Amino acid sequence: MPLFYSTNNRLARVTLEEAVITGLAPDGGLYMPEDIPQLPRAFIDNMAAMSLHEVAYAVIYYALQGDVPSHALKDIIARTFNFDIPLVRTRGGRFVLELFHGPTMAFKDVGARFMARLLAHYHSRHREWRTIHVLVPTSGDTGSAVACSFLNLPGVKVHVLFPRGQVNQLQQAQFSTLGGNVTALEVNGSFDDCKQLVAQAFADDTLARDMLLTTATSINVARLLPQMVYYFYAYAQLRASDVPTDRVVVSVPCANLGNLVSGIMAQRMGLPLTRFVSAENQNNIFYNYLRSGQFVPRASVESIAPALDAGDPTNFPRVQALTGSLDEARKLIHGYSYTDSHLIETMRTAYHAERYLLDPHSAAAYRALIEDLQPGETGVALATAHPAKLLNTVQRIVGHELVVPAQLAARQHGKRRVRPMASGYAAFRQYLTTQQ
Ligand SMILES: *Cc1c(COP(=O)(O)O)cnc(C)c1O
Repeated sequence: MPLFYSTNNRLARVTLEEAVITGLAPDGGLYMPEDIPQLPRAFIDNMAAMSLHEVAYAVIYYALQGDVPSHALKDIIARTFNFDIPLVRTRGGRFVLELFHGPTMAFKDVGARFMARLLAHYHSRHREWRTIHVLVPTSGDTGSAVACSFLNLPGVKVHVLFPRGQVNQLQQAQFSTLGGNVTALEVNGSFDDCKQLVAQAFADDTLARDMLLTTATSINVARLLPQMVYYFYAYAQLRASDVPTDRVVVSVPCANLGNLVSGIMAQRMGLPLTRFVSAENQNNIFYNYLRSGQFVPRASVESIAPALDAGDPTNFPRVQALTGSLDEARKLIHGYSYTDSHLIETMRTAYHAERYLLDPHSAAAYRALIEDLQPGETGVALATAHPAKLLNTVQRIVGHELVVPAQLAARQHGKRRVRPMASGYAAFRQYLTTQQ
């Protein structure tokens, strides 16, 4: 059984079950797998013929070394990956891995669905457990993916905190119209205030004695494990095509660096990727780290790619744990940072010259890939959200009306139920104590 250590203390180790149920280590560190098993080379060479489910099962079974029994894992995987993850070749000769065909049309469906099913698995073995309260601060995509994944899961209540006036109606509808065990809290403050409320609840020892709290942000290692799968699956699809696969570069739109961490872990499991490209917007904390060696968080600024607006990338300690040193990080990851006008220009060019519609987050990754890719290399950009998620922004930029896919439109006219919440901790704490 693999153990997970805290990035604040290598000796503080717990099981996967404990890491998932608590989210954050008690010392404030992030859980990381103690060892990352290498897949056999033969597996890599045979991947071209494998389905998404086959790749997913092999990768996760290996990573967890049998911690979750085979039949249970197969079921978790079938319910997690119930949508396709196609690799699309653009007219520019580059590849885009479309991670947005899940129920809420962002890549976070992968991590959230897996975590939900894993919690359900543990819950079924411990019926004596108290209710688990999942606290989720969101600027849109996380709240949608988690609410949809955890809806009606027994023994779990979800509390989504979002900043008032900063999440568009289409997005809000994805988590505020569900009801059941999902409550949407509209915080009179910023996204950072939402994160702060959750952090304070976790640091509140008296509260933690009475309530089982966890988080479904990318702090939770259960979100990161399944994300390794699509890096493997992208490579599998490249192997099945006619392009060279000896030098493959993957470009990732980055905010809290959870997606990037999953990619690096996949590489450590033996996936032969040459390098990663990290694409940020003006919230370029990681880009500055790669340039200067200094990691300096600051308040986030708003952009047309809201899911990239992170001023203090949560998973930075994990990137450090995996790379070991600044030099290694610089070799492995090339960083880029873009303004809104860069992203707009990229979306327009891709749309008009290559007939490929990017959403603003994916545009960051696509542009960075174009800038970084060397002759002879094969490049894959991760497309993390469907363009229709930011409908008005995208329509304005490309000057074209989009069709809203059925799964987004379905919730659009549902009855929104939101609970207003002050930004101070006292009100949030009071609310939580009534939820037990
Ligand atoms: C969350 C999100 C990201 C950033 O992912 P991290 O793992 O936080 O770096 C990028 N794009 C979209 C659409 C997202 O929702």
